[in-house]
Amino acid sequence: DSLHTAEGYEKPNVIITFTNAANNYVLQEKFRTTVKSLFKFSSIPINLFILGDEKSKTIVSEILRDVVPNPLEKMELLHLDVANLTKKVHNIVQEMQKHFSYKPGAYFSDALFFFSIASHVVLPDLNRVIMLDADLKFNADIKKLWSQFDKFSNKSIIGIARENQPVYRHTFHMYRNANTGTRVGDPPPNGLTGFNSGVLLLALDKMRESKIYNSVLISGEIEKLTQKYMFKGHLGDQDFFTLLSMEYEDLFYVLPCTWNRQLCQWWKNHGYESVFDLYFKCEGQINIYHGNCNTPIPKL
Ligand code: UDP
Ligand code: MN
Repeated sequence: DSLHTAEGYEKPNVIITFTNAANNYVLQEKFRTTVKSLFKFSSIPINLFILGDEKSKTIVSEILRDVVPNPLEKMELLHLDVANLTKKVHNIVQEMQKHFSYKPGAYFSDALFFFSIASHVVLPDLNRVIMLDADLKFNADIKKLWSQFDKFSNKSIIGIARENQPVYRHTFHMYRNANTGTRVGDPPPNGLTGFNSGVLLLALDKMRESKIYNSVLISGEIEKLTQKYMFKGHLGDQDFFTLLSMEYEDLFYVLPCTWNRQLCQWWKNHGYESVFDLYFKCEGQINIYHGNCNTPIPKL
């Protein structure tokens, strides 16, 4: 059983989405940086799952051959078929897509950006998974990230870092205007800031067991939450987790910002300059940089 170590412990499972990469050299370079840095610091073997199409298989193999000098010690490479899984995910997240997509229709292909929401259903054989964007740069051992699962409370089922910009201060502005003094959309450390899904710790076993989590996946439930919080988003799974956290804060373990240090500063010059730094500040040694909104990652 390749998913377990000789001692029977579950090896860290890591999923990276890498689709439509064939002619996208920018995406390929980002992915290269992500995996090169991951394996540079990693001290334990991992199961690396690529959520991709047929063409991404070849590209991934070539990049990994280049950047991982001793692959047999470092990883087991597994492929998750995007077409097959997207279909299953779409059946579960169809309603979410209406509220959290940037396009008007609930397109089948966009379901990919909602994969994590239904991961506990479509990956029944796994119990814990780290899901990563392909625009990251590691500066620390992934073993330390995996051990963040030990910090989950009994109630938490997902580990996720705060969004580092006032994105959700903006998205929730109607609710905030109607509810003076609310924590919804406020900055750290006390606010319900909302999340960024570039680095996700998914306790799939606890997600499967959670009555609350599975109750919001039932038809009509997410609609109620969007109405209560006057919410309309376009950022996929991170919108869903953010909205859920406003109602059920305890479901989430807030991952330290050092594990998903987002670099995008778009909102700084779009009406939020006075509060920007309250959200953007991240103190301490950075473990993972996230070059979101195509922001270059500084040379370390
Ligand atoms: N992605 C992909 N193919 C694409 C676009 C995105 O595989 O054509 C994946 C990739 O893992 C990427 C993630 O989706 O990191 C989220 O997109 P991105 O990181 O660009 O969003 P941002 O972090 O800037 O919001
Ligand atoms: Mn990203």
